[in-house]
Amino acid sequence: MKFELTILGSNSALPTSKRFPTAQVLNVLERFFLIDCGEGTQIQLKKFRVPMSRINHIFISHLHGDHFFGLIGLISSLSLQGRKNELHIYAHSKLEKIIRFQLEVLDSKLSYKLVFHNIFGKEIQTLFEDETLTVQSFPLKHGVMPCAGFLFKEKERPRLLKKDMLDFYKIPIKARHGIKLGDDYLTEEGVLIPNAKLTIAASKPRSYAFCTDTAYFPRIVPIIRKVNLLYHEATFLKNDAKRAKSTYHSTAEQAAKIAKEAEVSQLLIGHFSARFHDLSAHLSEAQSVFPKTELAEDGKVFSILHS
Ligand SMILES: [Zn+2]
Repeated sequence: MKFELTILGSNSALPTSKRFPTAQVLNVLERFFLIDCGEGTQIQLKKFRVPMSRINHIFISHLHGDHFFGLIGLISSLSLQGRKNELHIYAHSKLEKIIRFQLEVLDSKLSYKLVFHNIFGKEIQTLFEDETLTVQSFPLKHGVMPCAGFLFKEKERPRLLKKDMLDFYKIPIKARHGIKLGDDYLTEEGVLIPNAKLTIAASKPRSYAFCTDTAYFPRIVPIIRKVNLLYHEATFLKNDAKRAKSTYHSTAEQAAKIAKEAEVSQLLIGHFSARFHDLSAHLSEAQSVFPKTELAEDGKVFSILHS
Protein backbone atom coordinates (compact mmCIF):
# COMPACT_ATOMS: atom_id res chain seq x y z
CA MET A 1 0.00 0.00 0.00
CA LYS A 2 2.08 2.88 -1.30
CA PHE A 3 2.48 6.32 0.19
CA GLU A 4 5.53 7.47 -1.70
CA LEU A 5 6.99 10.84 -2.57
CA THR A 6 9.21 11.40 -5.63
CA ILE A 7 11.17 14.64 -5.87
CA LEU A 8 11.06 15.95 -9.45
CA GLY A 9 12.65 19.34 -8.80
CA SER A 10 14.37 20.75 -5.75
CA ASN A 11 15.75 24.16 -6.73
CA SER A 12 14.48 27.67 -6.15
CA ALA A 13 14.10 30.37 -8.82
CA LEU A 14 16.90 29.35 -11.19
CA PRO A 15 17.32 25.79 -12.38
CA THR A 16 20.75 24.18 -12.66
CA SER A 17 21.76 21.25 -14.84
CA LYS A 18 21.27 18.92 -11.87
CA ARG A 19 18.35 20.51 -10.07
CA PHE A 20 15.02 21.51 -11.62
CA PRO A 21 12.59 24.01 -10.08
CA THR A 22 9.99 22.79 -7.61
CA ALA A 23 7.81 19.77 -8.43
CA GLN A 24 7.00 16.60 -6.57
CA VAL A 25 4.62 13.70 -7.02
CA LEU A 26 2.93 11.80 -4.20
CA ASN A 27 1.78 8.28 -4.98
CA VAL A 28 -1.02 7.27 -2.64
CA LEU A 29 -2.19 3.74 -3.43
CA GLU A 30 -1.27 4.20 -7.10
CA ARG A 31 -3.01 7.56 -7.41
CA PHE A 32 -0.56 10.27 -8.40
CA PHE A 33 -0.87 13.78 -6.95
CA LEU A 34 1.39 16.42 -8.50
CA ILE A 35 2.57 19.20 -6.18
CA ASP A 36 3.85 22.31 -7.95
CA CYS A 37 4.91 22.16 -11.56
CA GLY A 38 8.10 24.11 -12.26
CA GLU A 39 9.63 24.34 -15.71
CA GLY A 40 10.59 20.92 -17.09
CA THR A 41 8.29 18.91 -14.83
CA GLN A 42 7.09 16.71 -17.69
CA ILE A 43 10.70 15.84 -18.52
CA GLN A 44 11.31 14.83 -14.91
CA LEU A 45 8.10 12.76 -14.85
CA LYS A 46 9.40 10.80 -17.84
CA LYS A 47 12.90 10.53 -16.44
CA PHE A 48 11.70 9.16 -13.10
CA ARG A 49 9.04 6.95 -14.73
CA VAL A 50 5.95 8.50 -13.22
CA PRO A 51 2.88 7.68 -15.33
CA MET A 52 1.81 11.15 -16.49
CA SER A 53 -1.62 10.03 -17.63
CA ARG A 54 -2.49 8.91 -14.10
CA ILE A 55 -2.11 12.36 -12.60
CA ASN A 56 -5.64 13.67 -12.01
CA HIS A 57 -4.96 16.36 -9.39
CA ILE A 58 -2.33 19.12 -9.41
CA PHE A 59 -1.73 21.43 -6.46
CA ILE A 60 0.08 24.75 -7.06
CA SER A 61 1.41 26.49 -3.95
CA HIS A 62 1.70 30.03 -5.33
CA LEU A 63 2.18 32.05 -8.49
CA HIS A 64 5.92 32.48 -8.67
CA GLY A 65 7.10 31.11 -12.01
CA ASP A 66 9.41 28.47 -10.58
CA HIS A 67 6.30 26.73 -9.18
CA PHE A 68 4.05 26.67 -12.26
CA PHE A 69 5.97 27.44 -15.48
CA GLY A 70 5.84 23.74 -16.39
CA LEU A 71 2.07 23.59 -16.31
CA ILE A 72 1.14 24.73 -19.83
CA GLY A 73 3.64 22.26 -21.33
CA LEU A 74 2.26 19.40 -19.29
CA ILE A 75 -1.34 20.34 -20.08
CA SER A 76 -0.54 20.43 -23.83
CA SER A 77 1.32 17.13 -23.80
CA LEU A 78 -1.54 15.37 -22.03
CA SER A 79 -3.87 16.59 -24.77
CA LEU A 80 -1.48 15.42 -27.51
CA GLN A 81 -1.60 12.01 -25.85
CA GLY A 82 -5.40 12.04 -26.20
CA ARG A 83 -6.24 12.24 -22.53
CA LYS A 84 -9.98 11.97 -21.76
CA ASN A 85 -10.14 12.21 -17.95
CA GLU A 86 -10.74 15.58 -16.28
CA LEU A 87 -7.65 17.24 -14.83
CA HIS A 88 -8.19 19.11 -11.56
CA ILE A 89 -5.93 22.03 -10.71
CA TYR A 90 -5.95 23.63 -7.27
CA ALA A 91 -4.42 27.11 -7.17
CA HIS A 92 -5.01 30.81 -6.74
CA SER A 93 -7.74 31.93 -9.18
CA LYS A 94 -5.26 33.96 -11.26
CA LEU A 95 -3.71 30.73 -12.52
CA GLU A 96 -6.90 29.83 -14.36
CA LYS A 97 -6.75 33.19 -16.16
CA ILE A 98 -3.11 32.60 -17.13
CA ILE A 99 -3.71 29.09 -18.47
CA ARG A 100 -6.97 29.92 -20.26
CA PHE A 101 -5.26 32.92 -21.87
CA GLN A 102 -2.35 30.78 -23.07
CA LEU A 103 -4.74 28.20 -24.52
CA GLU A 104 -6.81 30.90 -26.20
CA VAL A 105 -3.79 32.54 -27.85
CA LEU A 106 -2.56 29.14 -28.97
CA ASP A 107 -6.07 28.41 -30.28
CA SER A 108 -5.72 25.04 -28.57
CA LYS A 109 -8.68 22.76 -27.97
CA LEU A 110 -7.80 20.23 -25.31
CA SER A 111 -8.90 16.61 -25.61
CA TYR A 112 -10.07 16.70 -21.97
CA LYS A 113 -11.64 19.07 -19.47
CA LEU A 114 -9.60 21.26 -17.14
CA VAL A 115 -11.27 21.95 -13.81
CA PHE A 116 -9.85 24.73 -11.64
CA HIS A 117 -10.41 24.98 -7.90
CA ASN A 118 -9.64 28.23 -6.14
CA ILE A 119 -7.33 28.32 -3.13
CA PHE A 120 -8.36 31.31 -1.04
CA GLY A 121 -5.33 31.04 1.19
CA LYS A 122 -6.45 32.79 4.36
CA GLU A 123 -7.33 29.72 6.37
CA ILE A 124 -7.22 25.93 6.32
CA GLN A 125 -9.21 24.72 3.33
CA THR A 126 -10.15 21.18 2.33
CA LEU A 127 -9.32 20.83 -1.36
CA PHE A 128 -9.83 17.14 -1.97
CA GLU A 129 -11.48 14.32 -0.09
CA ASP A 130 -12.42 10.74 -0.85
CA GLU A 131 -12.87 7.60 1.23
CA THR A 132 -9.16 7.17 1.94
CA LEU A 133 -7.49 10.59 1.78
CA THR A 134 -7.91 14.31 2.48
CA VAL A 135 -5.82 17.14 1.06
CA GLN A 136 -5.93 20.50 2.80
CA SER A 137 -4.21 23.80 2.10
CA PHE A 138 -3.05 26.23 4.76
CA PRO A 139 -1.45 29.68 4.61
CA LEU A 140 2.31 30.19 4.49
CA LYS A 141 4.18 33.49 4.77
CA HIS A 142 5.63 34.54 1.44
CA GLY A 143 6.14 37.56 -0.82
CA VAL A 144 3.20 36.71 -3.04
CA MET A 145 -0.11 35.81 -1.48
CA PRO A 146 -1.82 33.53 -1.21
CA CYS A 147 0.91 30.98 -0.77
CA ALA A 148 -0.35 27.61 0.35
CA GLY A 149 1.16 24.66 2.14
CA PHE A 150 -0.50 21.28 1.58
CA LEU A 151 -1.32 18.53 4.03
CA PHE A 152 -2.04 15.04 2.68
CA LYS A 153 -3.59 12.78 5.27
CA GLU A 154 -4.88 9.23 5.04
CA LYS A 155 -8.16 8.62 6.81
CA GLU A 156 -8.52 6.30 9.79
CA ARG A 157 -9.29 2.83 8.56
CA PRO A 158 -11.90 0.60 10.24
CA ARG A 159 -10.60 -2.17 12.49
CA LEU A 160 -9.87 -5.54 10.87
CA LEU A 161 -12.11 -8.48 11.77
CA LYS A 162 -10.60 -11.67 13.19
CA LYS A 163 -12.41 -14.22 11.07
CA ASP A 164 -11.69 -17.20 13.34
CA MET A 165 -13.20 -15.39 16.34
CA LEU A 166 -16.29 -14.33 14.38
CA ASP A 167 -16.82 -17.95 13.37
CA PHE A 168 -16.18 -19.15 16.92
CA TYR A 169 -18.87 -16.87 18.36
CA LYS A 170 -21.15 -17.41 15.31
CA ILE A 171 -21.52 -13.69 14.80
CA PRO A 172 -24.06 -12.86 12.06
CA ILE A 173 -23.06 -10.79 9.01
CA LYS A 174 -25.38 -7.91 9.98
CA ALA A 175 -23.43 -7.31 13.24
CA ARG A 176 -20.03 -7.18 11.56
CA HIS A 177 -20.11 -3.61 10.29
CA GLY A 178 -20.63 -2.26 13.82
CA ILE A 179 -17.83 -4.47 15.15
CA LYS A 180 -15.48 -3.04 12.52
CA LEU A 181 -16.33 0.40 13.88
CA GLY A 182 -15.55 -0.68 17.46
CA ASP A 183 -18.77 -2.22 18.86
CA ASP A 184 -18.67 -5.05 21.38
CA TYR A 185 -20.92 -8.05 20.71
CA LEU A 186 -23.64 -9.46 22.95
CA THR A 187 -24.29 -13.17 22.36
CA GLU A 188 -27.77 -14.70 22.53
CA GLU A 189 -26.80 -16.10 25.95
CA GLY A 190 -26.13 -12.55 27.13
CA VAL A 191 -22.31 -12.79 27.21
CA LEU A 192 -20.52 -9.58 26.19
CA ILE A 193 -17.56 -10.17 23.87
CA PRO A 194 -15.25 -7.13 23.94
CA ASN A 195 -14.29 -5.66 20.57
CA ALA A 196 -10.58 -6.24 21.22
CA LYS A 197 -11.24 -10.02 21.09
CA LEU A 198 -12.92 -9.75 17.69
CA THR A 199 -10.74 -7.25 15.82
CA ILE A 200 -7.24 -5.93 15.39
CA ALA A 201 -6.37 -2.27 14.81
CA ALA A 202 -5.79 -1.20 11.21
CA SER A 203 -2.47 0.43 10.38
CA LYS A 204 -2.08 4.08 11.37
CA PRO A 205 -2.98 6.73 8.78
CA ARG A 206 0.04 8.28 7.08
CA SER A 207 0.59 11.96 6.39
CA TYR A 208 2.74 14.32 4.37
CA ALA A 209 3.09 18.12 4.63
CA PHE A 210 4.55 20.34 1.90
CA CYS A 211 5.71 23.80 3.02
CA THR A 212 7.23 26.04 0.37
CA ASP A 213 7.76 28.93 -0.18
CA THR A 214 7.76 30.49 3.25
CA ALA A 215 9.62 32.60 5.73
CA TYR A 216 10.08 31.07 9.19
CA PHE A 217 6.45 30.79 10.25
CA PRO A 218 5.80 28.89 13.51
CA ARG A 219 2.05 29.40 13.09
CA ILE A 220 2.02 26.30 10.86
CA VAL A 221 3.29 24.04 13.66
CA PRO A 222 -0.12 22.95 15.03
CA ILE A 223 -1.35 22.19 11.50
CA ILE A 224 1.53 19.89 10.59
CA ARG A 225 2.07 18.40 14.05
CA LYS A 226 3.36 14.82 14.04
CA VAL A 227 3.18 14.26 10.28
CA ASN A 228 5.25 11.32 9.07
CA LEU A 229 7.07 13.40 6.50
CA LEU A 230 7.57 17.15 6.25
CA TYR A 231 9.04 18.94 3.25
CA HIS A 232 10.14 22.44 4.25
CA GLU A 233 12.02 24.89 2.11
CA ALA A 234 15.59 25.77 3.08
CA THR A 235 16.58 28.25 0.40
CA PHE A 236 19.45 29.69 2.45
CA LEU A 237 21.93 28.94 5.22
CA LYS A 238 21.75 30.66 8.61
CA ASN A 239 24.51 33.13 7.74
CA ASP A 240 22.04 34.47 5.15
CA ALA A 241 19.17 34.75 7.66
CA LYS A 242 18.63 38.44 6.91
CA ARG A 243 18.28 37.77 3.22
CA ALA A 244 15.98 34.84 3.94
CA LYS A 245 13.75 37.12 5.99
CA SER A 246 13.64 39.93 3.43
CA THR A 247 12.79 37.53 0.58
CA TYR A 248 10.28 35.51 2.65
CA HIS A 249 12.31 32.33 2.58
CA SER A 250 13.77 30.10 5.28
CA THR A 251 17.19 28.87 6.30
CA ALA A 252 18.03 25.20 6.83
CA GLU A 253 18.15 25.84 10.58
CA GLN A 254 14.68 27.41 10.57
CA ALA A 255 13.24 24.48 8.60
CA ALA A 256 14.68 22.13 11.22
CA LYS A 257 13.25 24.22 14.07
CA ILE A 258 9.79 23.90 12.55
CA ALA A 259 10.27 20.12 12.21
CA LYS A 260 11.41 19.87 15.83
CA GLU A 261 8.58 22.00 17.22
CA ALA A 262 6.03 20.04 15.18
CA GLU A 263 7.53 16.69 16.32
CA VAL A 264 7.44 15.28 12.80
CA SER A 265 9.01 11.89 12.06
CA GLN A 266 11.21 13.00 9.18
CA LEU A 267 12.21 16.27 7.51
CA LEU A 268 13.13 16.85 3.87
CA ILE A 269 14.70 20.16 2.94
CA GLY A 270 14.73 21.66 -0.53
CA HIS A 271 14.12 24.74 -2.70
CA PHE A 272 17.86 25.36 -2.76
CA SER A 273 19.32 28.50 -4.20
CA ALA A 274 21.20 27.90 -7.47
CA ARG A 275 24.29 29.46 -5.82
CA PHE A 276 24.89 26.25 -3.88
CA HIS A 277 26.49 23.37 -5.74
CA ASP A 278 27.33 21.44 -2.61
CA LEU A 279 24.40 20.99 -0.21
CA SER A 280 26.27 19.37 2.67
CA ALA A 281 26.22 22.61 4.68
CA HIS A 282 22.40 22.72 4.42
CA LEU A 283 22.19 19.15 5.61
CA SER A 284 24.53 19.54 8.57
CA GLU A 285 22.94 22.84 9.63
CA ALA A 286 19.48 21.24 9.69
CA GLN A 287 20.66 18.00 11.28
CA SER A 288 22.27 19.90 14.16
CA VAL A 289 18.72 20.88 15.18
CA PHE A 290 16.73 17.96 13.78
CA PRO A 291 18.84 14.84 13.10
CA LYS A 292 16.25 13.03 10.96
CA THR A 293 16.70 15.38 8.02
CA GLU A 294 17.45 14.48 4.41
CA LEU A 295 18.05 16.50 1.28
CA ALA A 296 15.13 16.43 -1.16
CA GLU A 297 17.20 16.11 -4.33
CA ASP A 298 15.80 15.43 -7.81
CA GLY A 299 14.98 11.77 -8.36
CA LYS A 300 15.00 10.77 -4.69
CA VAL A 301 12.05 8.67 -3.50
CA PHE A 302 10.77 8.67 0.08
CA SER A 303 8.35 5.94 1.17
CA ILE A 304 6.24 6.10 4.28
CA LEU A 305 5.65 2.56 5.46
CA HIS A 306 2.77 1.45 7.66
CA SER A 307 3.70 1.55 11.34
ZN1 LIG B 1 8.04 31.95 -4.24
